[in-house]
Amino acid sequence: MIIATDMPEVAKCVVSQCAYNADDGCHARAITIGEGAAPDCDTFFDNDKHTHSSRTAGVGACKIEDCAHNDDFECTADSIQVGASGGSVDCQTYTKH
Ligand code: SF4
Ligand code: SF4
Repeated sequence: MIIATDMPEVAKCVVSQCAYNADDGCHARAITIGEGAAPDCDTFFDNDKHTHSSRTAGVGACKIEDCAHNDDFECTADSIQVGASGGSVDCQTYTKH
């Protein structure tokens, strides 16, 4: 069994209403980017409770093929940042091909 340990880090996420967010960081084990065709955080979970984890999340999967950092449905950036704009929660490291 091969276990991935080299995920890009979610260096920052300012979406404080997400259950996985604390102190401008994402503390999920891993997130998925790509909700439909948009580079949105598919792991976003609007909830009053918040994780107590101190781990830093990785990008486990990304479905946005037209991003320059995407290779074989995975993110190859060193790290990403997530934020909110226009009512969506999106990967701000997204770079269109
Ligand atoms: S990156 Fe996604 S899952 Fe993590 S805290 Fe931000 S919105 Fe939530
Ligand atoms: S930088 Fe590009 S490939 Fe990486 S998670 Fe964001 S949209 Fe996906």
